[in-house]
Amino acid sequence: MRLKKHYGQHLLLSTGVVKKILEVAELEDGDIVVEIGPGTGSLTKEILKTSIKELHCIEIDPEMINELRKLEDERLIIHHADASEFDYCQLGEQIKLLGNLPYNVTSLIIERTVFCNHCIKLAVFMVQKEVAEKLIKGSSWLGCFLKTFFQIHYVMTVPPRFFLPPPKVQSAVIKLIKNQEKTQIDLKKYKTFLTTLFSFKRKILRNKFPEDMLKKASIDPSKRAEELSLEEIQRLFWESA
Ligand code: SAH
Repeated sequence: MRLKKHYGQHLLLSTGVVKKILEVAELEDGDIVVEIGPGTGSLTKEILKTSIKELHCIEIDPEMINELRKLEDERLIIHHADASEFDYCQLGEQIKLLGNLPYNVTSLIIERTVFCNHCIKLAVFMVQKEVAEKLIKGSSWLGCFLKTFFQIHYVMTVPPRFFLPPPKVQSAVIKLIKNQEKTQIDLKKYKTFLTTLFSFKRKILRNKFPEDMLKKASIDPSKRAEELSLEEIQRLFWESA
């Protein structure tokens, strides 16, 4: 089969990395697992060796789906769909989300993960190393959006030679663990607020928000967006709402 660049198809060859992904996903009896972009199934096959209850695979490429159908297992449910638009919460209440993500839609998939956070227990994703570091640093709207609901842990760096074909960049496995406390936030409003906050992020806050709003949130108006802690960002959001 010819691999398609526009679908970000880089198959994971390393059994060691597949093992590590499964280990950090802590798969247990009864788990409902969702795999994004299963491709030819290197991760899928290993997931099916565990005692999980169901595995839902979300794959966009019909050719890959034909490959996957060869894995005969009644716990495997294949969805021909776009993972960046998928409603994960239709599949269960405490799902585990795994995947070696297609890098061209990583941000959209992370955004979907946040919008579906109430039904996601944990996620283990392979992403570009640079994306992983940026999310952990929390200096982007998406990093803050994600960190409001999940703790992000850096699991390991994965070099290009572990994939077929090798991507141009280093990759990394990250683990997202859902925060225990429930955060009641209007996600659409919060996203709009964060994207505004981080647009022109070198601008000092006084030039973006009314000074009394910043004062009420106890935030130094001469700071820039990227200098704020997540707590400060949330205080400002509540003041602005
Ligand atoms: N998990 C496999 C393949 C990873 S490559 C492995 O590790 O070997 C990324 C996979 O995501 C490919 O199978 C590609 O077809 C699929 N994909 C790309 N864009 C997608 C999208 N928007 N929704 C669902 N799957 C997608």
